[in-house]
Amino acid sequence: MELVPGSERIRAARDASPAAGRVCWAKPRSLWIGSLTLAALAGGPLTFAWDAFALFLATSAITLCFGHSVGMHRRLIHSSFHCPRWLEYLCVYLGTLVGMAGPIGMIRFHDFRDWAQRQADCHDYFCHRRSFWQDAWWQLHCELVLDRPPRFALEPRLANDRFYAFVERTWMAHQLPWALLFFTIGGWSWLVWGVCVRVSVCVIGHWLVGHFAHRQGGQDWIVEGAAAQGYNVKLAGLISMGEAWHNNHHAFPGSAKLGLFPGQMDPGWWLIKAFEAAGLATDIKLPADLPARKQLRRLADPLAGEAVLAEPRYAVR
Ligand SMILES: [Zn+2]
Ligand SMILES: [Zn+2]
Repeated sequence: MELVPGSERIRAARDASPAAGRVCWAKPRSLWIGSLTLAALAGGPLTFAWDAFALFLATSAITLCFGHSVGMHRRLIHSSFHCPRWLEYLCVYLGTLVGMAGPIGMIRFHDFRDWAQRQADCHDYFCHRRSFWQDAWWQLHCELVLDRPPRFALEPRLANDRFYAFVERTWMAHQLPWALLFFTIGGWSWLVWGVCVRVSVCVIGHWLVGHFAHRQGGQDWIVEGAAAQGYNVKLAGLISMGEAWHNNHHAFPGSAKLGLFPGQMDPGWWLIKAFEAAGLATDIKLPADLPARKQLRRLADPLAGEAVLAEPRYAVR
């Protein structure tokens, strides 16, 4: 049986707490992003060239859109659409190249945070409540060790997948073949901009969007009783591949479309539509396809209630 996607992978016993825990230095991840950022800061200006900059932009866009947003988040984590296994593997591999974690690590990280944010109270780490610089240190270099964590159970389809197990074990090493290729074609400037600058900008950018998307910005929906609300970070809509429409995502986690209102640019959605046009994506879920949530309240029209979910504009394909 396939579990319903999202934080349903988290099985919380009655005494499980999303609030009690301590933030500890996450040594491997900290050294990884710390050294890549230092290499980018030192090597980036020294090796700047316009072709290397173009490589940085193109590889960032491909890994963020195909990989992080569509492959990891909308497909693997939320199953918001279906696609052939080879396409899922390709997109998830590209998501691993963003340099944040392997596929299983990403699911775990996402689902723990999702579960914690939906509870009545949660740790400051999960809610991005601390100051800008402390949140940067916590999210990029540390991890939260809960005193009484819930159980995390991956669905068998993913738990028994040998490709994902391999990519999970080796996620950092997957930068190496690309580093070698870029070095062979364009020397140091391609290696520094195509790997070090790209990974550090994407990982730090992901944290920045996550920081603001839980603190300030546009809100059309409130999830009643949740410790953390999502906000739309307008400025980052396009460059985050649509992920910055985070208020919509908190309201409709299973929707493949994140930019729900006119003007909310959503490149990840455009890519899923392109997959669909090519016959590669089916069963694409929109807010109207999801079960109604009694905790969901629309801010602009508090009386609209569940009728809003069935509004045709959310179902525009
Ligand atoms: Zn969130
Ligand atoms: Zn999500």
